[in-house]
Amino acid sequence: MVAKGIGASKGIAMAPVLLLKEETIVIPEIKVESIDQEIQRFKDAVEKSKAQLEKIQHLAEEKMGKEKAEIFGAHLLILSDPEIINTVEKGIKTEEKNAEFVLDRTINNFVEIFEAMDDEYMKERAADIKDVGGRMLKNLLHIDMINISQLDEEVIIVAHDLAPSDTAQMDKEKVLGFVTDIGGRTSHTAIMARSLEIPAVVGLVTITSTIKNGDYVIINGEAGEVMINPSQEIIEEYQVKQKQYVAYRSKLLRLKDEATVTKDGKQVELGANIGTAKDLKGVLYNGAEGIGLYRTEFLYMDRPSLPTEEEQYEAYKAVLAGMADKPVVIRTLDIGGDKEIPYLNLPKEMNPFLGYRALRICLDQTDIFKTQLRALLRASIYGNLKIMYPMVSSIEEVRQANAILDEVKQQLESEGIAFSKDFEVGIMIEIPTAALTSDILAKEVDFFSIGTNDLIQYATAVDRMNQNIAHLYTPYHPGVIRMIKMVIENGHKEGIWVGMCGEAAGEPPLIPLLLGLGLDEFSMSATSILPARELVATLTTEGTQEIAEKVLSLTTAEEIEAYLKSVVGLA
Ligand code: PEP
Ligand code: MG
Repeated sequence: MVAKGIGASKGIAMAPVLLLKEETIVIPEIKVESIDQEIQRFKDAVEKSKAQLEKIQHLAEEKMGKEKAEIFGAHLLILSDPEIINTVEKGIKTEEKNAEFVLDRTINNFVEIFEAMDDEYMKERAADIKDVGGRMLKNLLHIDMINISQLDEEVIIVAHDLAPSDTAQMDKEKVLGFVTDIGGRTSHTAIMARSLEIPAVVGLVTITSTIKNGDYVIINGEAGEVMINPSQEIIEEYQVKQKQYVAYRSKLLRLKDEATVTKDGKQVELGANIGTAKDLKGVLYNGAEGIGLYRTEFLYMDRPSLPTEEEQYEAYKAVLAGMADKPVVIRTLDIGGDKEIPYLNLPKEMNPFLGYRALRICLDQTDIFKTQLRALLRASIYGNLKIMYPMVSSIEEVRQANAILDEVKQQLESEGIAFSKDFEVGIMIEIPTAALTSDILAKEVDFFSIGTNDLIQYATAVDRMNQNIAHLYTPYHPGVIRMIKMVIENGHKEGIWVGMCGEAAGEPPLIPLLLGLGLDEFSMSATSILPARELVATLTTEGTQEIAEKVLSLTTAEEIEAYLKSVVGLA
């Protein structure tokens, strides 16, 4: 059987399935015979939970650093909290009930109490207690818990969805690929898969109910296909394809240290999109000429509190120094939408992609913004920093952000702290009003980077995460292309450079068009860089301008897509 989804990360992988399914836990209520035995069962479950958490804490420290592993330290403290432990033991004694029943009730009571508190910090503890309580319950009921950062065998993970923290922790040696029910090409799970260079197919809707643990699957990340229990013949066919793909990739490495130039000598820049400093290895291996987008929000996720100025400074410094003098565009916090930070306790919203997010939060909670800007400025002396604001919809926001940046500069100066004096400050163009006022914005910023992932969803009113309307989510829409053209022209009129860091920048069929429209910089997943460099070398400026003209004369996304695919031999 072949299931068709959305190809999120290229490559072929085959292995048995590891199905991650959230089971509903049923808690029995039983009168116990021996109270001592029941208390001992409870104590054993606490000890087992402690041992598991210590192991996870140790591993998290190695993989993600001490600060990020702190959350597990907090979980360990809950396991030795006498309030909780004594309440459960007392309950077992007085009611003569089974440990899981008393534990479940106790945890729920504590969660309720903490959730009702006014103090935000205390409210956050409710989630921790729930988490640790769930672990103890599973241990009492002998329900297995899977830790995907520590697996014994090679697997393909199949899940409803994966949190960015799951993908970040995945053991790349063992997780050969992954498959999810939900998500689209630009959902963050897909973006993480590309940065980990793990083949992935997303948006398969019901794959978690059609696949069983241990089924053997082949995933084709390019075609978005998942073959379930294929025949030996198919397995062999895909083993050959897999070898060909690996050979093609290694052949491309000859272009690693080359510039990106068209046949007639026009040079453009190919940058990489990264989520953490750990991605640098892949970026350098794939011959990036810079970082076109560093999504700093991952620094703020999967931890119990905001990252300190010092932690951020270290992360930014590592990236800037690691890239030597190559340009590094670091985007200020872009939280919200599908990227949540639980400890900020942001209210649940009906339309999170249109809500209180990104620059809007930074201009409101200026302490968070100032800490990040201070860290960025301090790190600026180690490389070629360019600061970029996300989700800009008007010139007022740019002015407000720049005023805060000036304040931070003055503060640092008065403290005698060094920072670079000539870094560029640019903005993402990902909201239609920013594209439409790009003539105004270009006068007050140093560069634009077009964020097609969001620009497409806002311009066409198509949720980038919703697989039911994925066919409507397209960069080939003539309206989207007209906006891109306008932004490039307006940027150039004011003499600033225009890049693109949305996923469209790395799509081979779009590259000739974007070149023809005059795009200066393309930023993409590291693995897309060498194929893009190879493609650019086959094009000419005049040829791409003709392609752009032809595209502008076409009327439907379908025609444009078919034409551009034929240009690059994909039709
Ligand atoms: C974009 O919107 O195109 C973009 C690059 O940002 P993100 O995918 O992080 O929203
Ligand atoms: Mg965006």
